[in-house]
Amino acid sequence: MTLDGRVVIEVRVNEYTGRDPNPHVPWSPEELAADAEACREAGAAIVHFHARDARTGAPAWGAGNYAAVIRAVRARTDLVLNPTLGASTVPDPLVRCAHIPELAADPATRPELAPVDLGSFNIDPYDPATRTFRNEDLVYATSIRGLRHEIDAIRGGGVGVQAVLWNVGSCRLLGAFCDMGVLPSTVRAQITLSVAWLASHPGTVRGMATMVKLLPVGHDVHWSGSLYGGDLLALAPAVLAAGGHLSIGLGDFHYATRRRGDAWPTNADLVREVVRLAAAAGRTPATPDEVRAALAAG
Ligand code: ZN
Repeated sequence: MTLDGRVVIEVRVNEYTGRDPNPHVPWSPEELAADAEACREAGAAIVHFHARDARTGAPAWGAGNYAAVIRAVRARTDLVLNPTLGASTVPDPLVRCAHIPELAADPATRPELAPVDLGSFNIDPYDPATRTFRNEDLVYATSIRGLRHEIDAIRGGGVGVQAVLWNVGSCRLLGAFCDMGVLPSTVRAQITLSVAWLASHPGTVRGMATMVKLLPVGHDVHWSGSLYGGDLLALAPAVLAAGGHLSIGLGDFHYATRRRGDAWPTNADLVREVVRLAAAAGRTPATPDEVRAALAAG
């Protein structure tokens, strides 16, 4: 996977995030397509999205919901597509990944990537201000067999896997899966840092650097930094200096930190800021076709 020092900018447009306080989170296929087009013009190469009910924003799990988004986005941009599996909202891994082979059966709706969270995690958000957990029962659990099923279903459809790493256990599991041939030896990975999920590393330079240090040796891991619940732009210079790519978006954080008066930032605003920070670090954004070529080369 050669990208000659270019930075791959992935925009994480919506997750299952609401519109309070930032109203710019896209939900419907049309909103997602317009947002994706603006992000592509700003310098993004990959769009990671969750299919949502257009009116309520509730999760929309059907393959048809994902297909509608992919068709709408492809009508307006050449972005690499990376749809969610649904994460903890779909407890059974056999069900969680079922839409990917369905989408992959038709080249018009086959995504290039799908993410797999490597491990099982407590996802009760912790609030240090009140010293309480918002909920004390949330577990996002996937067995090794379940993860292998997800990976096999994704790769079997000709779709690439984006390995999502939450902690040292994820890094070690990535090494094991690469050693076993479950995942290719050259792999794209996302380092997920988080403010409120204590199962992941904190969104600090040390939290990021420790993960990078623990990436499996002997394999070619192309990693991208992300931060759930915090301002990734503040950490981006350190990610860029460490050779990482960036995965950023309103799905992860409302970015009140970047508000100008009454104007909330859009996903494209965040991408523009990443491009500016990358330029300061001497790196230019990779195009979607450059990312496709790198993924295909392995
Ligand atoms: Zn997601």
